[in-house]
Amino acid sequence: MTDKSKGLFGGDTNPSNILPRKYTLDSKIKFRCHPGVSCFTACCGNINIILTPFDILRLRKYLNLPADEFLLRFTTPMFIEKTDLPGVRINLDENGRCPFVTDEGCTIYPERPSACRYYPVGMANFHEGGEEGVDSEKFYFLVQEQHCKGHEEDKEWTIREWIADQGVDVCDKMNKEWLEIVMRRKSFGFQASMSEEAKKIFFMVSTDLDKFKRFIFESSFLDIYDVDQETLDKIQEDDIELMKFSFRYLASSLFGTGDLKIKDEKIKERAAQMQEKQGDVEERAKETYESLKAERDRLMQERNK
Ligand code: SF4
Ligand code: SF4
Repeated sequence: MTDKSKGLFGGDTNPSNILPRKYTLDSKIKFRCHPGVSCFTACCGNINIILTPFDILRLRKYLNLPADEFLLRFTTPMFIEKTDLPGVRINLDENGRCPFVTDEGCTIYPERPSACRYYPVGMANFHEGGEEGVDSEKFYFLVQEQHCKGHEEDKEWTIREWIADQGVDVCDKMNKEWLEIVMRRKSFGFQASMSEEAKKIFFMVSTDLDKFKRFIFESSFLDIYDVDQETLDKIQEDDIELMKFSFRYLASSLFGTGDLKIKDEKIKERAAQMQEKQGDVEERAKETYESLKAERDRLMQERNK
């Protein structure tokens, strides 16, 4: 089997198939994929399709499944490449084929994932240093695999036209804040450690909005965060609003962006706890010092006998 992959995150794709050129939105490509190509559906196997939160939301609604069932049946947990952030990718069947492909094509075509929409275009986004106010560098690249005959077709597009035609622009808009979080984490590298608890929260929020909703309304979440009633009403009723809210929560809890406001009394409570902890530390240090001093005095006395 040849090594084929579709990756929203660039590096998933075999580098030898990437044309050595940076493309802009106005760059032109020649490509067309349709049921008449001899390679039809050849690219829907032996692939790594990472799902974004918006992909999961659309797919499970299309398949009429709750998030946990969709995740269990169709996905496998993995780490988003070059990060320690856990996510999910589509499970392949025993022949290495996507579970949604048939000879007639993709059975979830109207709701297919972002990575499938982008192909054969890839997007790279470097958020230097992960710092606020520092521009990220974004460019596109073209994947040209031998088996893909779409490159031999006459249809010419700009990258911008391709993106609009495939509905990638809508996906990117929906996932924007989440992608920024991933890029930001990626730019920190592995040396900046992340707690296991934070990773679990990232996974839950990024993959299972049903669970995140219960986390908001059935835990102490609303005792900690100051969320106005209008926002609460919206996220109760509208999953897209819930998803947008989840990105704000992730940015706030992972990077302290302040997108969500912590209640004043909780900040005071936390400051008091920290002060108390600090008091404990000082007390313990004093006790240690006193006992070391007593031991030293005892030894000195013994020596002087
Ligand atoms: S033309 Fe390329 S993208 Fe289209 S079916 Fe063939 S291999 Fe897949
Ligand atoms: S989701 Fe559809 S387009 Fe994407 S790999 Fe599977 S069958 Fe192919």
